[in-house]
Amino acid sequence: MFKLIAIVVLAISTAGAGYFGWTQKKLGAAATEQVAELTQKVEEADKKVEATEVELAASKEMLPPLMTKAQELEAVKAAFSTGTVLKDLEAVYAKEKKGISSERQLGLAGVRLLTNGTKDPATVEAFQKALEMTDWKGQQKVICAAQNALAAAGEKVKVMSECAPEAPAGKEEKKNDAKVAPAEKADVKDDKKGDKKGDKKEAHGPADTHAAHWEYEGAMGPENWGKEFPICGKGKSQAPLNIKGPFEKVRFSVAPDYKQGQLKIVNNGHTIQVNVPNGSKIRIDGKPYDLVQFHFHRPSEEHIDGKPSVMVVHFVHKNMEGELAVLAVMLREGNENPGIKTLWTHAPKAAGPEVIPDGVMFNPVNLLPKEMDFFHYDGSLTTPPCTEKVKFYILKTQVNISKEQVTDFPFKMNARPIQPANGRPIYTN
Ligand SMILES: [Zn+2]
Repeated sequence: MFKLIAIVVLAISTAGAGYFGWTQKKLGAAATEQVAELTQKVEEADKKVEATEVELAASKEMLPPLMTKAQELEAVKAAFSTGTVLKDLEAVYAKEKKGISSERQLGLAGVRLLTNGTKDPATVEAFQKALEMTDWKGQQKVICAAQNALAAAGEKVKVMSECAPEAPAGKEEKKNDAKVAPAEKADVKDDKKGDKKGDKKEAHGPADTHAAHWEYEGAMGPENWGKEFPICGKGKSQAPLNIKGPFEKVRFSVAPDYKQGQLKIVNNGHTIQVNVPNGSKIRIDGKPYDLVQFHFHRPSEEHIDGKPSVMVVHFVHKNMEGELAVLAVMLREGNENPGIKTLWTHAPKAAGPEVIPDGVMFNPVNLLPKEMDFFHYDGSLTTPPCTEKVKFYILKTQVNISKEQVTDFPFKMNARPIQPANGRPIYTN
């Protein structure tokens, strides 16, 4: 039956069961909590009947729908917890020659999440990344595909009205009422730890609950990313590239319009990343893209004429259509960089949640050079899931960072090796 689910998922749309599962999981977690809360309320109320008769009635009325939600969650969990669906999907996608769409990536990441549980930070992170890569329409497609597939396979899953043939556009509300509850509670009873660093990976049991974990070295290093994330291995437009001529000329420019905002900084176990509040933009050939986040690699992932720089900053932008554009600023060893000084002061040394230092403002423009001349090529995310159709703009002018600041960066090496160009042109303005 699991195979059936996987096949139906593939047949109905281009997706897997990801976002739906995740949303339901969160909904389910919230529902389970509310059920527990209400049950407690009912019990308490039972003790002092006179006083709370009305409240009790209301509570009892609310119980059945919540119970239904909790049961739906069980059905979803049961369908995925064995890992068979994940294996089937991975097998099918591994055969794809051209790489898979962001929707499929999202589906795959979601199935992985449902299989591995939410305790593995790499799995959760990969899912969130896939989610970020997919626009709302794509997400809805994934949700519908999953719901229809599970329903077709005989699971007790409600299919959203938006998934009916002449679907009116469902909006954000669906997401918002998925209150983020401690997702762990709704977890499959798998005992996986999936801790980022240090502790050894456990042997993978026959139940095949392998975590989608990745690193920059060793068995989980870049040469092996493709095993868990097919595009990383099979993609034909992967990044980074070695930048060397001959170049093709383009006539447009890139024009940043970054704004100062509250600093939000995170050590996600792979890099230091600054999450940027709304309002910062860049115009590329006149088209606006929002700056979403920026992060660092050491050494630079991009090489120029075969040589890396000591570090690079990647400014990640997304436009209305969900297309990604990365502006890369190479850092060379020189004077201390005051912008980076602020960032390093607040950057957590170890992986953990986002930090929002009280009243600390930052303007990303502080990390840009004045000259915006660039090299450009079509690439991919340089971390799993390595999704393609990411436009890269590498500034020709480099920016200083001091030797001490380089050594203070908590990652000794977090750069993906150079990828084959496969005939892709490199442009320059
Ligand atoms: Zn990067």
